[in-house]
Amino acid sequence: MKTITTRFAPSPTGYIHIGNVRSAIYPYLLARQNNGRMILRIEDTDRERYVEGATELIEDTLKWLGLDWDEGPIVGGKNGPYFQSERLDIYHTWVKKLIKEGRAYADSTPPDKIDEYRQQCNKQKVPFLYRNFRPKNLDFEFKEGVPIRFLSNPKERKWTDAVMGEMTAGPEVQDDIILIKKDGYPTYNFAHIVDDALMGVTHVMRGVEYLSSTPNYLALYEAFGLEVPVLVSLPHILAPTGNKKLGKRDGAKSVTEYRDDGILAEAMLNYLACLGWNDGTEQEIYTKTELIERFSLDKIQTSGARYDETKLLWMNGQWIRRIFDKDGARALYDRTIGFWPEVAEKQTEEYRLKVLSIIYDRLKTLGDLRGMTEYFFKDPEIDLEMLKNNKFLKKMSEAELEDLLKTAIRTLDDIKDWNPDNLQEVLNQLLTETNKKPAELFSLIRIAISFAPFSPALNLTLDVLGKDTSLARLNAVARSI
Ligand code: GLU
Repeated sequence: MKTITTRFAPSPTGYIHIGNVRSAIYPYLLARQNNGRMILRIEDTDRERYVEGATELIEDTLKWLGLDWDEGPIVGGKNGPYFQSERLDIYHTWVKKLIKEGRAYADSTPPDKIDEYRQQCNKQKVPFLYRNFRPKNLDFEFKEGVPIRFLSNPKERKWTDAVMGEMTAGPEVQDDIILIKKDGYPTYNFAHIVDDALMGVTHVMRGVEYLSSTPNYLALYEAFGLEVPVLVSLPHILAPTGNKKLGKRDGAKSVTEYRDDGILAEAMLNYLACLGWNDGTEQEIYTKTELIERFSLDKIQTSGARYDETKLLWMNGQWIRRIFDKDGARALYDRTIGFWPEVAEKQTEEYRLKVLSIIYDRLKTLGDLRGMTEYFFKDPEIDLEMLKNNKFLKKMSEAELEDLLKTAIRTLDDIKDWNPDNLQEVLNQLLTETNKKPAELFSLIRIAISFAPFSPALNLTLDVLGKDTSLARLNAVARSI
């Protein structure tokens, strides 16, 4: 039995689309599940689209998600080099084999001539197939600076795609595709066949957009006498609405942007793995280990998977809670470095840990800490309008508000041991004493100590702020009403 070998073969063009990353996750899961090998190969043959630093971005993204590779950049391996731009000799050797066998030819037809053929077909409303315009006298010699084309042998082709099922294609989709461009670089169509073969790839997993070119790939496998690997077409990722593929414009950020916004790697991996795959149960939260155990090709869906950022945020919230509940406050705290508001620096780590412990279950992203915790670190600006316009307080007069605050201050001031339980007890007593509804009394105190649209449970918030700060803030508000 061959070792299951998969690969992720991104092009270093800068932005790493969510869909690109999913194309790394499935091969990774399959390889790990089967004690196989995962290869990272950088497909940098399109020099015009090449972006400096893009390879590092890909590597960082994979590392962040916990997707390690057994062969590829950084780690090396016996089938290198892993940058296609460093494998030009290999492609030339392989294409020369085809030329020798009369299955590829040098084509010096000028580009404007080719355009003319294309336009001619457009006018006649027939599909453009280069093989119909192939030069009469074929040039079976490798030449620098001249594109090399495949000499196609169109026929009906049948194959099985592990996701899409039994496929058939007629001759009309097979053509004399370019194998080597005039700059000496191979096309994707050619290079990936050679590399997958040399690297022992058993499963080619990539976006479904490559399905329509598969008949041409099959012709190449046949010409080289290669065994066809298992072909796995991954469904499109659709934009949040409509039937379009997800694009940059649909608001989907790159994976690193999500990381910088405070999405956890576990959540991102979980979300993307489930975008087009599920194990047939209701489960939604999966650890990496569970994904490796449960993944199977036959559960990859054939239809497009809808990208839904709300779901991602929900999942991230679940993961934040899970880390806190399972691994502890400290484990979550370690992930929050860099996400606190600037003022938080002034406080001790112990204090920030306390804040995190009462607020973590409301966070959707770690970045929420910035907007949601400022008042724990600095006195908020008093905003009487916010107080007076609150839906529970707007019926009360200023005098009533002031009175109520003063009563609260007096009672809270009597607490000897300032802790959540005592605070809750005193707050409950205050309710009876003042004959107010919890929404009224608690909103008043909550707003007066935070001037924030939201805060955790009142007794916990008061406890973390401490007696002095809480009373000072309440007094300041009482004075300014
Ligand atoms: N370089 C191709 C891309 O980034 C890879 C397709 C494949 O996985 O074979 O789309």
